[in-house]
Amino acid sequence: MRVNAYAAPAAGQPLAPIVIERREVGANDVLIEIQYAGICHSDIHTVNGDWGPQPFPVVPGHEIVGVVTEIGADVTRHSVGDRVGVGCMVNSCGECTNCRGGDEQYCQKGMVGTYAATDRDGTTTQGGYSTHVVVDADYVLSVPDGIDGAAAAPLLCAGITTYAPLRRWGAGPGKKVAVVGLGGLGHMAVKLAHAMGAEVTVLSQSLKKQEDGLRLGADDYYATSDPSTFEHLASRFDLIINTVSARIDLDAYLGLLAVDGTLVNVGAPPEPLSVNVFSLIGGRRSFAGSMIGGIALTQEMLDFCAEHELGAEVEVIAADQVNEAYERVLASDVRYRFVIDTSTLV
Ligand code: NAP
Ligand code: ZN
Repeated sequence: MRVNAYAAPAAGQPLAPIVIERREVGANDVLIEIQYAGICHSDIHTVNGDWGPQPFPVVPGHEIVGVVTEIGADVTRHSVGDRVGVGCMVNSCGECTNCRGGDEQYCQKGMVGTYAATDRDGTTTQGGYSTHVVVDADYVLSVPDGIDGAAAAPLLCAGITTYAPLRRWGAGPGKKVAVVGLGGLGHMAVKLAHAMGAEVTVLSQSLKKQEDGLRLGADDYYATSDPSTFEHLASRFDLIINTVSARIDLDAYLGLLAVDGTLVNVGAPPEPLSVNVFSLIGGRRSFAGSMIGGIALTQEMLDFCAEHELGAEVEVIAADQVNEAYERVLASDVRYRFVIDTSTLV
């Protein structure tokens, strides 16, 4: 099946229309007619070559929402007409300890990414900036009724990437959580942590988005460009989720953790971050990382969002506005996720 898509032809080049081939629907596959595809900063890191060489042309997009239009003979999990989602992962071995434990994203043989990855049949995966995709049914999520489709798309990456560490590190009543960076991931972290009952503080570069941050559910909002922020908030937080796509001064942020506090890095800048061990040993603090989340947890997150009436704050764009949207994300001028209406890919 040949479908319309948008691809980066080479590292750092603007995205442009392309026609790509989707595989035949196999026995355990579903064919999805895509409606919305979110733009994640990871798409930009990938096509700009920040994370190393890529198999160009690359069709990005791992925040996919659409409708099932065909299912393989063995599929029982989804039916034609269901509204579904696909995140960052379209396959994994299914047999290793991590896959069996529900952490398919940490598959010991390597998860298969939704784009720019080698699929199990040896072909290169292509992502959601396209009209259709064929995905193994076990990696396809159900999108509950009640969440708008465009607002649901970013949950498939930004949502699960922040939900997973908030759950793992116990965000809830009585916990003080800080979110560093109010972009796509950051704004979901604020909404989710607030819905879990935690006390939430935004740490943004400036106060420009303060009103939004408080409306999204934050209790406090501070500018990290103001050095007094780091004095005022010293030893305050139980958990800090760092969503920043660039290098930050880790030691300064570790100083904001209470004894036994944890700073979880979900931001994935290409450059290494350095840490002075005294920032950790001085308060029995932890520095951790977290990557998206497993399939069952992703479904739990979608159901949690439906229950709490949460979705992303989105700006829906046509496919030919993708390059402009990338520039705005890079300038921290996203409010708070761009989502492509893939019906514009005609
Ligand atoms: P985004 O929408 O661009 O948000 C990042 C935010 O970080 C910006 O809005 C900005 O917030 C802040 N920021 C940007 N540059 C900064 C700088 N130089 N110094 C300080 N703060 C800065 O990006 P995103 O889509 O949320 O993704 C964020 C990062 O997470 C990316 O590196 C992405 O690749 C990574 N990611 C990781 C996973 C995972 O599984 N771990 C999954 C998805 C994405 P303020 O304007 O509020 O300061
Ligand atoms: Zn992403």
